[in-house]
Amino acid sequence: MKYQEIIDQQRQFFNTNTTKDISFRIKELKRLKAILKKNEAQLYESIYKDFKKSEFETYTTELSIIYHEIDLATKKVKKWAKKKKASTGLTNLPGKSYIIPEPYGTILVIGAWNYPYQLSLCPAIAAIAAGCTVVLKPSEVPSHTSTTMAQLINQNFDSNFFKVIEGGVKETTELLGIKFDKIFFTGSVPVGKIIYQAAAKHLTPVTLELGGKSPAIVTKDVNIDMTAKRLVWGKFLNAGQTCIAPDYVMVESGIKDTFLSAVKKHIEKADYHVDNDNYTQIINDKNFDRLAGMIEEDKVYIGDKGNKEERVIPPTVMKDVEFSDKVMEDEIFGPILPILSFETIEEAIEKVKQLSKPLSCYVFTKNNAIKKKVLNEISFGGGAVNDTVMHFTEQTLPFGGVGDSGIGNYHGKFGFETFSHYKSVLQKPFLIEPNLKYSPYSPTKLKWLKRIIR
Ligand code: NAD
Repeated sequence: MKYQEIIDQQRQFFNTNTTKDISFRIKELKRLKAILKKNEAQLYESIYKDFKKSEFETYTTELSIIYHEIDLATKKVKKWAKKKKASTGLTNLPGKSYIIPEPYGTILVIGAWNYPYQLSLCPAIAAIAAGCTVVLKPSEVPSHTSTTMAQLINQNFDSNFFKVIEGGVKETTELLGIKFDKIFFTGSVPVGKIIYQAAAKHLTPVTLELGGKSPAIVTKDVNIDMTAKRLVWGKFLNAGQTCIAPDYVMVESGIKDTFLSAVKKHIEKADYHVDNDNYTQIINDKNFDRLAGMIEEDKVYIGDKGNKEERVIPPTVMKDVEFSDKVMEDEIFGPILPILSFETIEEAIEKVKQLSKPLSCYVFTKNNAIKKKVLNEISFGGGAVNDTVMHFTEQTLPFGGVGDSGIGNYHGKFGFETFSHYKSVLQKPFLIEPNLKYSPYSPTKLKWLKRIIR
């Protein structure tokens, strides 16, 4: 079927108002969970084929997050979708005001490859909870996960409601030529700009979940061992192919050497190898070459350029890195951790602010004034104090970027809001209708109006 036909049929289905029924949304969300649960083995197998991602990491960083989103939405959607009362001013009394959350309509979700299930299905879940129909275009890069999602969803859902379309640039470009009611994109900054421009032609609203260089700042008063442990985990999870991984660490110069030893210790303790399922492959040769090209051997503290045949780069820490080094030019998106040092917090903040607004920022400190200064002066999507990555798991926190790292957000209730238009209504009874605002105007009417509308 042609893409335009699929979208036309989804729009026709949306116009039947079926998706506006909350029980329909809950039923479909529960169905999705049941399908995923039933086919977990296939989900694990596909992602392992794509980049040897283990069952442990697939469950903890993908499936559990999807299940949580479904559970929260099924529990709360009735409340989220309720009409909300608003106060009414004197000029409109005896009327009442309210806001109705209304589904946008037919949605296009475009996924990224690094967490292929979660980054495709969580936006789709939010869209379904909000009462929309969904066309999902997962990333073509992990081909097995893309095909598995297409099989599971297309065999179990009516394509008028939820349809997976597989493909790469050609297919996505074709989809972008069609008018959707909202586009939700996760991916790189350059492609984000292509999506935004294509959406503008149809005045389609977008949510763009993009990337960037997320800093970690470490001051000298921290618990160095625990700081290194949390940073190593956040960085080398999924072999560093995480949009909110700490891209680089700026450490206060006085503790640099102790910190480096602690990082080394925790990398060794974690026993990062693909063979033992503690680590994942680099997604493809293109990314392997890109990453290997960032590693300057004379700055390597631990690690190396890896094994291209196996598509594995070990956790690689670079020390004495400067902002002018190659590894600091673009988002790393792989298992390379540059360590830079700073003398004053003012200097560290200034350096971070010279780069684009990051998706995440992490500050490790026991100093309250420094914590407040970092949170106040650096603009970033979201982040953590004394931890990495875990803010992503809090459904009470909106997840999204700012500036070059993105537009809009989702997770939990924020996902529902992302796919809802908040329709505002003033409702009046036929009780009275004072003549004050009607012509013919007069100085007396104006005098009274000036008293009322101030
Ligand atoms: P990407 O931009 O290359 O691809 C993302 C999607 O866009 C894919 O589905 C792809 O098929 C499609 N696409 C690629 N080129 C296109 C084109 N020219 N026209 C139309 N569509 C096109 O990104 P990626 O390599 O999959 O992911 C890596 C990037 O995504 C990193 O920058 C990372 O930080 C970011 N990311 C952000 C988040 C987030 O939640 N903010 C999550 C994961 C990844």
